[in-house]
Amino acid sequence: MTLSVLSRWVGVVLLTCSAAMAAWAQAPDPHPDFPILTLTDTTPSRIELSSHLAYLEDAERKLSLEQASGPLQTWVGMDRTSPNFGFTNKAYWFRFALDNRTGKTQQRLLELPRAFIDDVRLFHLQEGKVLAKYALGDEQPFAQRVVQHQNLVMPLTLPPGVHQLYLRMASSGTVEAPLRLWEPATFYTAAAREHLLDGAVLGMLVVMIVYNLFIYLSTRDINYLYYIAFVISYLMFWSTLWGYSFAYLWPNEIRWNSIAVPVFIASACVSASLFADSFLKLRRFSRAAHYGVLALTSISILLFVGAFVLPYPLIIRATSAMILVVSVVALGCGYWRWWTGARFARFYCLSWTSVFVGVSVLTIGKFGLLPSNFWTDNASQIGVLLLVLLLSFTLADRINTDRSLRINAQAVALAHAQKARASQKALIESTAQANRELESRVQERTNELHDALEKLQTVNAQLQRLSNTDALTQVGNRAYFDHALQTEHKRASRQKQPLALLMFDIDHFKSINDSWGHPAGDACLRYLADFLRSKVLRAGDVLARYGGEEFVVLLINSTLGDALDVAEDLRAEIATLEIPIEGKHLRITASFGVASAIPASLTTAATLVADADKALYEAKHHGRNCVRAAAPRLNAPQST
Ligand code: GH3
Ligand code: MG
Ligand code: MG
Repeated sequence: MTLSVLSRWVGVVLLTCSAAMAAWAQAPDPHPDFPILTLTDTTPSRIELSSHLAYLEDAERKLSLEQASGPLQTWVGMDRTSPNFGFTNKAYWFRFALDNRTGKTQQRLLELPRAFIDDVRLFHLQEGKVLAKYALGDEQPFAQRVVQHQNLVMPLTLPPGVHQLYLRMASSGTVEAPLRLWEPATFYTAAAREHLLDGAVLGMLVVMIVYNLFIYLSTRDINYLYYIAFVISYLMFWSTLWGYSFAYLWPNEIRWNSIAVPVFIASACVSASLFADSFLKLRRFSRAAHYGVLALTSISILLFVGAFVLPYPLIIRATSAMILVVSVVALGCGYWRWWTGARFARFYCLSWTSVFVGVSVLTIGKFGLLPSNFWTDNASQIGVLLLVLLLSFTLADRINTDRSLRINAQAVALAHAQKARASQKALIESTAQANRELESRVQERTNELHDALEKLQTVNAQLQRLSNTDALTQVGNRAYFDHALQTEHKRASRQKQPLALLMFDIDHFKSINDSWGHPAGDACLRYLADFLRSKVLRAGDVLARYGGEEFVVLLINSTLGDALDVAEDLRAEIATLEIPIEGKHLRITASFGVASAIPASLTTAATLVADADKALYEAKHHGRNCVRAAAPRLNAPQST
């Protein structure tokens, strides 16, 4: 089986330029249908045979050596730099001659560095005689190889003279014949170096797999799993393609070896598309891209299964096309995301691009357009390493980006929370302040209200006093007397105690007014009132100005006799008063009417007043300055 998926990736692009460069790369040969290579002592120890081959197409795959070497066949000189015939069902014959002019038998190794070609046969002839015959290719167990190398290597013993070499190749994959002729020592030196480098590459890939597996186990980020799956697929594809798997892993599994390459390409397609979708967050970015990539994943899974059951020529073509599509889409999506501002897509693009560059360099190298050196020979390994390292870096970068985004978001959230807490605190503070202000205002208002109430009470009391006090004399007025009379009358009635009333009037007061003036009259009234106040001291007794120059005294619990005594005392003292008016002494007298009663149902307060008034009237009639008692009522107590 022959295949070069790597070169197919960019082969389409490069075929065009390779054709243009072919003329430059190839030297003209005098026998294009049977090129001759001369071996002398100065011949290089490694020769690329590509430009020293003639080939023959065997469309039916039926030609024998005799038929192929016969005169009926049309051999043509190699018209391309790299003898690559792509996917083909035909068998191809190659031939060249070696002219050993060293005079000694030479040992050479013919190497075909395409381990995956199904069937390779070598016929070594000298002067029409078959010296050696080899049947190689990956349809025989590895142990049967003459030289135990991952590539197909055929030893040649070359006595002096001209040797003809015929190679027949047939494969269900591609047919390529980048043959090399080596001196054995050079070959083994180069092989040792190649093994060292490839071993280093393999080791690094394995290290990356293990390392990222540990990262996956600690982060549980699914991207790492896709990445690991992809690296394993790539590693297995690469080691199978270049013959290492067959040489070291499954030297006897011919059937498995024949399908392993498409299986690993398909699994690389699955993991790469899943990685692209997940890593580039296509679902949130673009539904179309997301479902497009998932469709590629689904097809890749089908191809993976198909690799075990479908015919090889079909599946190898399909998987090769698929990896091209997946790579282009994955890279395209990466650049699209980068273009639209996703910073984390930078390294992703860089890593995929590095593989493209690496594979391109390899392919250009294979086409013979680049000088063969360390970099061009190992471009694919370098590309793979760059891919693996950069992708790992990409993952780390994205996790870093995600983490800093998360940290930023957390910081913003924290700031918001702090702000919210601060404003909540301020709100609580201002509410408390408002409450305090309200309370103090309420207290203020309450105090004011209390003050107002107190003032009101004071004013009320003043008003009460004013309304009960006679303005001129400052003793109780008529209203005060009426109210006091009603109250004491009821109490006396309840307690069955006598209540006495003295009513007296200044005699000839009018003449005082007339002769001394009204203000003098007022002063006289005030003087008398002061005197009366000093006299009526018993608790409960009531003094009042009844009107004009007329006064009343209500004596509680007093019989008529008691009252008459009081009246007589007052009358006598009034008569002795010397009232100072305008530097002179004025004398007055007063007439008294006295009434007393134990209030009962028949006697009212008015009766008491009327009786006293009547007695006063009598006193006036009997010459004034005297006391008269009212006639006792039936229920009135007798005076002693
Ligand atoms: P009598 O009672 O002895 O019969 O003679 P009277 O002159 O006192 O009697 P009358 O009732 O006729 O006169 C009362 C006078 O008292 C009339 C009025 O001018 C005077 N008078 C009443 N109230 C006041 C007052 O408040 N101040 C002064 N200066 N005079 C008053
Ligand atoms: Mg009078
Ligand atoms: Mg009078």
